[in-house]
Amino acid sequence: MVVNLSYSSRIFSLSCPGLDSAFTRTTGAAKKQHQGPAHISRNSGDSANFTLASMTERSSTLLGDLRDKRAFPIFADCPYENKANTRYFISRGTGATLPRRHWCFFGEVVDFVVFGRLTIDARDTSGRIIRISFYDDNRGLRFVTNDQVKKGYTVAVLYPLQHWFLDMSQGFRVEDVSKVMILPCSLRRLRSANDRLHDSRSDGTCWTPDCNRTEGLLRCSGCRKALYCSMDHQSAAWKDHKPECKALQAVEWFTQKDWGTYRTAHSF
Ligand SMILES: [Zn+2]
Ligand SMILES: [Zn+2]
Repeated sequence: MVVNLSYSSRIFSLSCPGLDSAFTRTTGAAKKQHQGPAHISRNSGDSANFTLASMTERSSTLLGDLRDKRAFPIFADCPYENKANTRYFISRGTGATLPRRHWCFFGEVVDFVVFGRLTIDARDTSGRIIRISFYDDNRGLRFVTNDQVKKGYTVAVLYPLQHWFLDMSQGFRVEDVSKVMILPCSLRRLRSANDRLHDSRSDGTCWTPDCNRTEGLLRCSGCRKALYCSMDHQSAAWKDHKPECKALQAVEWFTQKDWGTYRTAHSF
C-alpha cells in the first residue's frame, strides 16, 4: 500500500492498489497523528486489514462545513481587490482593514497552462470558470514539476481576492503558494464527502446502504471515517469507497478548522 499524503508538496497523493492493503487492523486505539493538514500516519502491511472502531475514535467535532457559503464562497461572492468589503474585513480607520473571518475558494481544475507561470482555469460550484494565476517566486511551477495539478482535481485558495487581469479576464492572482492546495478529487466528490461527514448517521452506523448495524464496526484505516459491520460489507463497498476515501481525507482539514472569528491566517 502506498498512502503518501505529502504536506510539504501541498498535495495529497495516494494509491490503494488492493483491498487487502487498504485497511489496517490494530487492536489498540490507533491514533491519527497530524503533522499538518494533509499528513496522516498509519500502520500498514499486508496482514493488516482493519482498525477496530472504538467510541474514543469517534470523529472530532466538525468545525467547518463546505455548505457554509460565507466560509466557502463562489467566485462572485469573494471580496474584490481594492474595494471595501464588510463581510470579510473590518475597517480600522485610515483605510486599513483586517480580515474578520476566514474564507476559502474551491474550484475544479478544468484546464491549466504553463507559459512562464502556471495558470489554472477552475470552475466553481456556480459553474463559472475563472483563472488562477501564480505570481510567487516559483510561479506555481512546483505544482507542475511534481505532477500535482490535474484536470478534474480541486484547487483550494485561501483568502482570495477577485482580480482583473490585463486581458480583462477575472480570477485570482496568487502570490503566496502556502494559500493554495490541490486536492486529488473532484469538487463534487469533495462536497459529498463533506456532507457525509456532517451526516449524523456516518459516525455510528455501517456505511453499507440499508444496513443499520451499529455494533462491532470496523473502520477504514484510509479515511478513518467509513465504518462497516463486516468484512463482507467492507469488501462490497470498496470499489465505491475508494474514490470517496480520498475525498474524505482531502476534506478533513477543512472540516477541522474554525472558519469563524479570525485570529491568525490559516495556511496549507
Ligand atoms: Zn453492514
Ligand atoms: Zn476510507
